[in-house]
Amino acid sequence: MEKFILAIDQGTTSTRASLVDKEGNIVAKAQQEVKCLFPFDGWVEQDANEVFVSVLNVINDLLVRTNFTFENIDSIGLSNQRETTIIFDKKTGMPVYNALVWQSRQSAYICDAIKDKTDFVKEKTGLIINPYFSASKIRFILDHIENGQERAEKGELLFGTIDTWIMYKISRHKIFKTDVTNASRTMLFNIHTLKWEDDLLKLFNIPKCMLPEVCPSSYYFGNASFLSDDLKICGVAGDQQAALFGQNCIHEGDVKSTYGTGCFVLMNIGEKPIIDKNGLITTIAWKIKDKVAYAIEGSVFVAGASIQWLRDQMRMIKSAAESENYARRVNDTLGVYVVPAFTGLGAPYWDDDCRGAIFGLTRGTKKEHFIRATLNSIALQTKDVIDEMSKVTKKKIEILRVDGGASENSYLMQFQSDILNSEVDLPKNLETTSLGAAYLAGLESGFWKDIEEISKVHKINKKYFPSLDEKEVSEITKKWKKAVEATRVFK
Ligand code: ADP
Repeated sequence: MEKFILAIDQGTTSTRASLVDKEGNIVAKAQQEVKCLFPFDGWVEQDANEVFVSVLNVINDLLVRTNFTFENIDSIGLSNQRETTIIFDKKTGMPVYNALVWQSRQSAYICDAIKDKTDFVKEKTGLIINPYFSASKIRFILDHIENGQERAEKGELLFGTIDTWIMYKISRHKIFKTDVTNASRTMLFNIHTLKWEDDLLKLFNIPKCMLPEVCPSSYYFGNASFLSDDLKICGVAGDQQAALFGQNCIHEGDVKSTYGTGCFVLMNIGEKPIIDKNGLITTIAWKIKDKVAYAIEGSVFVAGASIQWLRDQMRMIKSAAESENYARRVNDTLGVYVVPAFTGLGAPYWDDDCRGAIFGLTRGTKKEHFIRATLNSIALQTKDVIDEMSKVTKKKIEILRVDGGASENSYLMQFQSDILNSEVDLPKNLETTSLGAAYLAGLESGFWKDIEEISKVHKINKKYFPSLDEKEVSEITKKWKKAVEATRVFK
């Protein structure tokens, strides 16, 4: 009988289910959007039950359409939007508050109050103090429901990131676990000892009994008995870490960049964590058997979103893909630089307060130059993150592996290669997050023998090689830096 790994990717905007075969092909997929709720400015929430229902729906959809059954499923691999926080009742399994989505800023005041602990938090967790991470979100929910703290202390309430929540529900409340990658995004997890950190629990006054057991990423978590009694869950990882694995970044120094709404750059830094003092965060890439791999990560807030902005606000293009045609109609940007700091700047600057800017306009500036400069800004912001990675790891990045919606823009990818002076590899299958989850599951279940076998099924579709001369690269980089500096001054 044909067997597949069922990969579930629970993302912020949608949930996807895919069937992955032994050759690493996605043979079928189903997708459903998930609603985000915006109760107040800066607050982003989701209905946790709707999230779980969407997982069931995409699995059903996939099986019905392909005419496969659970017998065709070797095991489940799960990847998920990270940091999103759910608190639920242990007995009933019902959420006690909406899920607080990673982007949500409602717990910012809790983080502001502990800013003096920045170095301590970075040292233990690898993270900067920010409401993105789960800790302050847990505190917020406990403070905003009736007897929250008391019920948590009595062991009546449980905390989960999306992976924990899905596993709890899909196992009929039998699995209360998370994996190291998800745990490392809570700001409560010590990435050196791989344990919940008591000092941080104390800092946020969060009772330990509400936290799930932390397991490796490639691991038998238990059975999805809500679906079928012997359906095993064998792999779990946060989406960016899953993508890193799905991009075959299995060696120290391997880097991937995902070009979606924002841009997530992760580098595998091997078995020892490196703590960067300058805006990159350190996180766990995965744990397979007893081997841990670490990653450093930098995120750019506005990447593909700047192209949506060109489309929806500037009305310069009709579709994101059209940006490429316009960019190619001119030979350069005519000295125009766009810094799309619409919501501040992410790594390595972490400047929340600056806003976007445009430089170098002349009477000759045309829409084509403007569009080209906006695309360039995506690559230049990515370069800023990668340069910082090179600096802290003392490694030159030879190859950048790319994925995400905007990686299909070959003008952008060529410019990325030019400006980094590195090869840029686009994989055959852009669904690297689902692939990574599938690989982690398949390694544990025996679907694939070992990592080497997985490496062999990973296929590259297209390679870009640098073609700009050094002088030109240095000129563009220098001007870009000046543009960023000026943007940060204007507040
Ligand atoms: P997300 O997972 O964050 O929703 P996706 O990986 O689906 O993002 O990518 C969508 C983003 O990529 C959008 O912001 C869109 O503007 C951008 N995008 C998609 N196709 C292109 C393209 N050909 N050129 C430039 N940007 C693109």
